[in-house]
Formats: sequence, structure tokens, C-alpha cells
Amino acid sequence: MALGEFALIDRFFRRPVQRAALGVGDDCALLRVRPGLQLAVSTDLLVEGRHFLSTVDPARLGHKALAVNLSDLAASGAEPLAFTLSLALPRADEAFLAPFAQGLLALADEHGIELVGGDTTAGPLTIGITVFGEVPPGEALLRSGARPGDALWVSGALGDARLALEAFRGTVALAGEGFEQARRAMETPMPRVALGRALRGVASAAIDLSDGLLGDLGHVLALSGVGAELDEAALPRSPLLAAQPAALQRTCLLAGGDDYELLFAAPESHAQGVRAAGAAAGVAVTRIGRVTAEPGLVVRDGQGAALDLRGWRGFDHFAAP
Ligand code: ADP
Ligand code: MG
Repeated sequence: MALGEFALIDRFFRRPVQRAALGVGDDCALLRVRPGLQLAVSTDLLVEGRHFLSTVDPARLGHKALAVNLSDLAASGAEPLAFTLSLALPRADEAFLAPFAQGLLALADEHGIELVGGDTTAGPLTIGITVFGEVPPGEALLRSGARPGDALWVSGALGDARLALEAFRGTVALAGEGFEQARRAMETPMPRVALGRALRGVASAAIDLSDGLLGDLGHVLALSGVGAELDEAALPRSPLLAAQPAALQRTCLLAGGDDYELLFAAPESHAQGVRAAGAAAGVAVTRIGRVTAEPGLVVRDGQGAALDLRGWRGFDHFAAP
């Protein structure tokens, strides 16, 4: 017999609450927010065929759905607290739901964030998650805080997720462990929550990289009212990406989406603090450029020549192709 809506929720998504006062099962969940802290809230929607391929492993999909939301808390320097899950499912398929819930809840447990509610309906596979986090007033990292003279940094390595996408599209041939590595970067990104928290009071601005470096940096520059100069040769890349043709590397590094690394600005005097935050979080941090008073973005290649950036832009769901 097919699983009904409430049996499905009970079976896969209802667990004893840990920190919340009330979880799945009532009209509202009740969160305990520590007195004096601000609630950080973010939401992301993942639609089959747009954000993920129908062939993706359900456990990895569960991981990624929560990871992209945790990445927003990370970019704000917020501490994860709770999340809700809205699911549209073509059918109540246990072979999908069991690994999906396992991948989702395993990442939730790693970050001490609990599932407190949601909504479940029949429909084309769509996953909406809203995350709630805590942050001391005035300490959240914003996109608007970059100042001229700040250094620009990124965490981890960029571009492997885009490399995987190109492999799926057939524009690049990757085999064996190389393909698996790129695919892991695309399907199971690691949200930089500990780094975001450690950057409170150190970074002046931050954003998580979801739509490509140039586009996401553009948001920081616009909101901060500044410009930037980037050093292309400094952009951190995996040995796998470094072995690809130069033009492909450039595309993956500058315009590849789905990195879920943090891009942040910090005063030069905080460079040691940035390195200490990276070390404490166990994540590589790399200086990639600087913030300028003149608006606009200049990317210099290894020879110091400015790249022609016309025609490059971040991903936009509604942009004409
Ligand atoms: P309502 O009628 O108030 O919308 P529902 O009947 O949709 O409530 O949901 C019943 C309970 O199950 C609620 O507490 C809701 O938060 C929870 N819930 C529904 N879907 C999910 C889900 N996918 N994950 C977690 N909790 C869910
Ligand atoms: Mg409902």
C-alpha cells in the first residue's frame, strides 16, 4: 500500500526535538532563541531539472538541499538552529525518501541543526528549505561592509562543480577518480559554517558563492559601493582543475556556480585573524585581490593584463540566453 502523507512525515521526518521547544506535528514549531540574539533566516528552493539532475543520488540530493541553505547561514556568520522542509513529490516513493532523509539528516546532525516542520504535497519534485540561525546583534556578516583597501579572500577551491557540469554536458572528458571528485564537489558541497562564525569581527563583508565568483562578487561590490581588483593566478583550484585547458579553468573559476565557498573582505590588518579563522575551521583561505574605491571590477591575468569581462555575468534564472 502506498504511504500516506502523515505516515510519510512520521516515518522519515519526525524525530525527537533537541533544542526546539516543539517540533514536527503541531501547527507551528516553537524555537528557543537565546535571549538578546538575532534570528538569521534564509530560504532556498531546488527544482528538478533546474538545480539538480533527475539522475542524482537521493542521499546526495538531501545533503545538497540542506547544504546550500547552511551556506547562507555561514555567509552571515550565524549559528545554525533549526530548519523547515517543504517537499513536492511526484509519488511517495520510499526508495527515494529513505536515502533522501538519511543524507539530509546526517548533514543536519553534523551541524546541530534540527528539522522542526515543513509541508508535503504531491507535485513535480521540488525541495524548499528555510533555515534559522542565531547571531549576536551587530555581528552578522553583511554583503554591504567591504571598504576600499580591504583584501578579498575565498575559502577552499573554486570551479570543480562547474567542471562536473561540463563533464555531464559532454564538453570535457573526465574519467575515473577525476570525474568522481568533480561530481562530489557539485553534489555534496560542504557549507563553511565554522569559518563564517570564526570570521565574525574579522571580515568586513561576506557572501557565499552560489552563482559564480564574478556575479557574487558583483553583489558585494554593488551593496558596498566599491570596486575590486582580482588576481586570476591567485584563484585557488584543485589539481584536477589546474590540469584542464586555460580557457576552461577561467570559465570554471570566474563563472562556475555551485561552489558554496565563502568570498569575504577583511582589512589588511586582519590578515592574521583571517588565517587563524581558516585554521580554526580547518578550511584553506586564499587572498585573491583587493577592494578599490573606484567602482568596477578588474581581473588581471598572470601577466598583469586586465581581462575583457564583457559577456561574463553571474547566473540569472530569468536572463535571456
Ligand atoms: P498544516 O495542516 O498545519 O499545514 P500539515 O498537516 O501540513 O500541517 O503538517 C503536519 C505536521 O507535519 C506539521 O507540524 C508540519 O510542520 C509537519 N511537516 C509536514 N511536512 C513535513 C516535512 N516534509 N518535514 C518535516 N515536517 C513536516
Ligand atoms: Mg501543510
